[in-house]
Amino acid sequence: MSTLFISDLHLHEGRPDVTQWLTDFLAGPARKAEALYILGDLFEYWIGDDAVPPQAEHVAVQLAQLDAAGVPCYFIHGNRDFLLGPAYAEQAGLRLLAEEVVANLYGQPTLLLHGDTLCTDDLEYQAFRQQSRDPAWQGAMLAQSVQDRLRIAQEARAASKQHTGSAAMAIMDVNTDTVLETFRRHAVTRMIHGHTHRPAFHEHLLDDGSPGQRIVLADWDTKGCYLEVSAAGAKAIDL
Ligand code: MN
Repeated sequence: MSTLFISDLHLHEGRPDVTQWLTDFLAGPARKAEALYILGDLFEYWIGDDAVPPQAEHVAVQLAQLDAAGVPCYFIHGNRDFLLGPAYAEQAGLRLLAEEVVANLYGQPTLLLHGDTLCTDDLEYQAFRQQSRDPAWQGAMLAQSVQDRLRIAQEARAASKQHTGSAAMAIMDVNTDTVLETFRRHAVTRMIHGHTHRPAFHEHLLDDGSPGQRIVLADWDTKGCYLEVSAAGAKAIDL
């Protein structure tokens, strides 16, 4: 038996090919899994469950089919789709999780998270994150018209692209002290996250001298990819 992990698909209407890769994955390898975890940024942007784009409606149907086939699917919000709410989750059969969750995977406690909280060198982003996770801010956002929210989302995507382009490469990656502190806080020796679009299997030296493994999931910009975790360990697999 195995558990699968994906993140950073950034689905949107401009990339029907990526939605097709997900369709193939959900009807294929995902069906044999014990569970599927989506660790954020499934969608490029999300302006509320009352304004679901057609391609996301399509994805909900396929996710619900996976759930109906007996494979539970868990979701942790990313920095792009943090407004994805209980209505869409119910439609898609997604089980919404907290932003940091420890799962017992074949005997090994493993921390699961999107990964943006590890990028503490990016002060500008962390300030926005704090603001945008505030329920009052989210309520005010969701109270705006669909048209206004779409405009705000487009502006945010453009600003994010510009920020990613101009900020030093180093600050866009995780901060090592934050990584070690996060291992310590959850008392785990393995974590899995996405967000940075820098897929890798990292080894960290933990406080007690033991090795900590940090697995970074791949984004789906050029191809689909998932992580398979079983009792034998973890491996990244291209579709
Ligand atoms: Mn992200």
